[in-house]
Amino acid sequence: MRYEAPTSVEAATELLAGGKPEARVLAGGTDILVQMHMDAIAPELLVDIKNISEMRQIESLDDGYRFGAAVTGVELMDHANFCRTWPGVMDGVKLIGSLQVRGRATVAGNVCNASPAADSVPALIAAGAIATIAGPNGRRDIPVEDIGTGPGKTSLENGEILVSFFLAKARPSSGGAYQRFTPRTEMDIAIVGVGIDLTLGDDGVCTHARVALGAVAEKALLVEEAAATLIGTKVDEQALDNLAAAASAACRPIDDKRGTKEYRIEVAGVLARRVAAIALSRAKSAREK
Ligand SMILES: Cc1cc2nc3c(=O)[nH]c(=O)nc-3n(C[C@H](O)[C@H](O)[C@H](O)COP(=O)(O)OP(=O)(O)OC[C@H]3O[C@@H](n4cnc5c(N)ncnc54)[C@H](O)[C@@H]3O)c2cc1C
Repeated sequence: MRYEAPTSVEAATELLAGGKPEARVLAGGTDILVQMHMDAIAPELLVDIKNISEMRQIESLDDGYRFGAAVTGVELMDHANFCRTWPGVMDGVKLIGSLQVRGRATVAGNVCNASPAADSVPALIAAGAIATIAGPNGRRDIPVEDIGTGPGKTSLENGEILVSFFLAKARPSSGGAYQRFTPRTEMDIAIVGVGIDLTLGDDGVCTHARVALGAVAEKALLVEEAAATLIGTKVDEQALDNLAAAASAACRPIDDKRGTKEYRIEVAGVLARRVAAIALSRAKSAREK
């Protein structure tokens, strides 16, 4: 096996597109090294992206935030302004493994590993995150919900690499939240994860919402029908009942040792109510500032 640590995105994409079908990106290694140790994969070439400075930056821009694919969970947790601006995204990031895992793990790795239960993914989708992808044909931007296509599978083409994420400036009076439900309280895989972002108008009526579900389908889902139950309401009890029903209706989960299909469908509705209440309270606090 060959190991390369290029210092530019272009050099990384050239290596990845260089005709080696088993070339893989190495970010924090918390998924890929485990998979290699278990002999689940045997890449011929590992392209380490941690020496690419563009991928190590967290940038506050006039129109939002951009953070690179090699930024670790802990680096985001240490960025006070990012955490204040995107509490819902950070709810997801803070749930990835333990502090030690987050010291290595990246959000891009969480997205590109394409586990349907990945914790940062519904949170990013709810926040409307856009990923910049680079490849042999240049760069393109895609919403995070269009990256995962199934367990372990992404829409990235041969030679493509995720470079960074962009989060457009948060609307005034908006709030986001993510929670997951696990059989154990820590270091476990979600049986359901829910991310919700919502925005309130001056009259307290919800003007914009995004709802994303994890671990209840082959990939994380953006559920527009669930968002529609909140928009135009004050996120009252009736709206929360409708949200819970829409979230449950969108699930197409598997049965496994962590939970049955019926259980996951029920929990998705319960969790969606809870997450919407947190997002609402954060949006109200943002309005009072
Ligand atoms: C003990 C333990 C507990 C964990 N708990 C959780 C948990 O609770 N929740 C959770 O969601 N995850 C959990 N994980 C999984 C893991 O830590 C995350 O998925 C992590 O975010 C992966 O990031 P990484 O940088 O380590 O990725 P890597 O392992 O380096 O890469 C993961 C995959 O993504 C690809 N990849 C990485 N970066 C890019 C890129 N920029 N462009 C294209 N492809 C790329 C790699 O080729 C590889 O296929 C846990 C892992 C461990 C070991």
